[in-house]
Amino acid sequence: MSHFKGETDMTNLTRDFFIGLSNNKLLNSNAKKWGFRLGADKFVAGTNIETVIETIKELNSRNICGTLDNLGEFVSDRMEATTAKMEIIGILNKIHEENLDCHISLKLTQLGLDIDHDFCMENMREILEIAADYNIFINIDMEKYIHYDKTLEVLKILRRQYSNVGTVIQSYLYRAEDDLKELKDVRIRLVKGAYKESASVAYQSKEDIDRNFIKLAKQRLLGDAFTSIATHDHHIIQILKDFVRENNINRDKFEFQMLYGFRTEMHYDLANEGYNFCTYIPFGSDWFGYFMRRLAERPQNMNLVFKDVFYSKDNKLKKEPIILGTLAVTSVLVWKKKKNRKEKIG
Ligand SMILES: Cc1cc2nc3c(=O)[nH]c(=O)nc-3n(C[C@H](O)[C@H](O)[C@H](O)COP(=O)(O)OP(=O)(O)OC[C@H]3O[C@@H](n4cnc5c(N)ncnc54)[C@H](O)[C@@H]3O)c2cc1C
Repeated sequence: MSHFKGETDMTNLTRDFFIGLSNNKLLNSNAKKWGFRLGADKFVAGTNIETVIETIKELNSRNICGTLDNLGEFVSDRMEATTAKMEIIGILNKIHEENLDCHISLKLTQLGLDIDHDFCMENMREILEIAADYNIFINIDMEKYIHYDKTLEVLKILRRQYSNVGTVIQSYLYRAEDDLKELKDVRIRLVKGAYKESASVAYQSKEDIDRNFIKLAKQRLLGDAFTSIATHDHHIIQILKDFVRENNINRDKFEFQMLYGFRTEMHYDLANEGYNFCTYIPFGSDWFGYFMRRLAERPQNMNLVFKDVFYSKDNKLKKEPIILGTLAVTSVLVWKKKKNRKEKIG
């Protein structure tokens, strides 16, 4: 029992550590200059749309569609948000020109949500107008809870004018079920939730989050609107496959979604079994926050990072990171020891 508690504490600590890094604005902005590091290229498809087009074509040839995320968050000036909008419009043009089976996922903070609501709305309208002409769907990714109400509000206004827009609901939120009732006619991606939220708004345990995910996915599958079931969890996928079969649910009402670089064989298997499948393809230089959240979700992803950091291309062990790593671990241990001592005294 104590062993299990220790493991949970460690998992939480690792998760908090990477979520903390993902929110660090300085690291995020510096990472843009570094280029891909730390094994990020395993999970981020490329730095520009040209390189990513080949990836989409390859997926399309396997009956898999794509949703492209031109990575970006923490945008705090208008110039940056306008650039992001122009880039997204460029991507729409490319998807149309190349006739790709692909849509777009974007974040409202990338388009100025933190700067000015009307400005963000204007950017979204421009994007949606062009996307509607090309018959391309736009998905608004869900970010941290502080942006949740604003995101749903933007969606609600946009839906009055455009039908090619939807969003994401996170099963870790207590209110997810109520929000899904409101959004019963909207195309939704269901996820567990990638951010650290407080117990006042979100379930904290994996069991609760998973249970809610399954419950909400089933409700959606019995409803009318299209649902993207976004998880790498093979247990949940199996439960939902059985549910679909037992209830004669039409496979065109839903798709499975997974992230680029994660469980790739499962992407191919599900598509080969005849399920609609969509791969979420992040690309661009703003990779740091996205990558850190993936490490937070699954510490095993660290294996890839370690390989990248510790080994050179010819598989030789590098010395510098070992020295730095030893120093880092020693400092953490010393810090923990001091903290424990203080707590005991306190
Ligand atoms: C397409 C897509 C879009 C997303 N969009 C958003 C968004 O807009 N907002 C948001 O908050 N979150 C988003 N997320 C992230 C999501 O909220 C979860 O944080 C993330 O998907 C991890 O949960 P999971 O269900 O995939 O697997 P977990 O709950 O992390 O894992 C469950 C189990 O699945 C198995 N498993 C999982 N991954 C692997 C692997 N790589 N290899 C082997 N086994 C594995 C393991 O058995 C594991 O115990 C998105 C996720 C996907 C897939």
